[in-house]
This record gives sequence, C-alpha cells and structure tokens, in this order.
Amino acid sequence: MPLQILKNPIQIFKEELDVIKTCGSMRKQKLLFTLLCYSKASDATNNWVTASARDLFKSAGVNITVAEQNNMIYELKEQGFLRNSKKIISNNIFVDVFPDGVVGGEVAFDIEDLRSLGAVYQAYIGGSAMAHKTLKKCRCCGAPFIDSSTKNNQLYCPVCQEQEKNS
Ligand SMILES: [Zn+2]
Repeated sequence: MPLQILKNPIQIFKEELDVIKTCGSMRKQKLLFTLLCYSKASDATNNWVTASARDLFKSAGVNITVAEQNNMIYELKEQGFLRNSKKIISNNIFVDVFPDGVVGGEVAFDIEDLRSLGAVYQAYIGGSAMAHKTLKKCRCCGAPFIDSSTKNNQLYCPVCQEQEKNS
C-alpha cells in the first residue's frame, strides 16, 4: 500500500489549474490533476511520477479499461502535458508532468491526501454543476469526498458507505 497521506502538504497553483482546464474532458482533467499531485508529492527533483496505474486512476475517480487508460495517457503526451510517457509497463506509469513548466504564482489550495484527487479537483473546479457541492472529510477514513446526496447529509466516503452497507 503506497503512502497516500502526505507529511508535507503540496501546493497547487491557480496557473496550473488554468492549464489543466484546457486539456480536454473532465475525466482527462481529473487524471492530469492527479498526475500533477503525485509528481509534486514525489521526492524526485523533477516532476516524475512513478505510481501504479491502478492507484492513479482510482484516485482520479476515472473508471475506464486499461486500453482506454493507455490512450488517455498517450493523448496527454501528444498534447504536450506529459513527457516520456511510456506505455503502462507492469502497471506503473512513468511521466514527467508539464515538461515545459508552468510558472506558479497564486496558491489555489493545498493537498495533503492523495486519495480521491478526482473528487477534490471536481469540487474546486467542476463549475456550475458542482459549485453547490462542498468537499467533506469521511468520518471513518478521513478521505475527501463530494457529498452526492440531495440533502447534503452524507458522512462517509463512497468506499466506507459501501462497506457499511455490506457489514
Ligand atoms: Zn471513508
């Protein structure tokens, strides 16, 4: 199990979010945001990400086939958002995020938890559809999640909620 709770929070800049918004579909944006967060959380001096595809796509909340995963990574590379992205080898992704650099200025928010990054992105960026939804912390595991209930009274993340139901 990789460490997903960060000792030192990472900063996400407004300028980076502006770039991510231009990459394509919401699913793609969530993946790119997830890759950016993972790259910032890594100890490497460059922006390399080495993580399992499973963890990355799970955190991004993007549920697609492996072939579609490969394709999405390939497209991001072609668009210049990633470099040296190889095919997913033994379920690991190796990429350099924003190879040409994005100059950050204004901090948009901090990230200290690498789980559910897609939900975090959507809560902050999702636009009008999600604007009224707030990001909550799961009472059980502490993971961030978006309350999808109409009454806005959800206490547990979807994973814990599911476990609750089955217990
Ligand atoms: Zn939970």
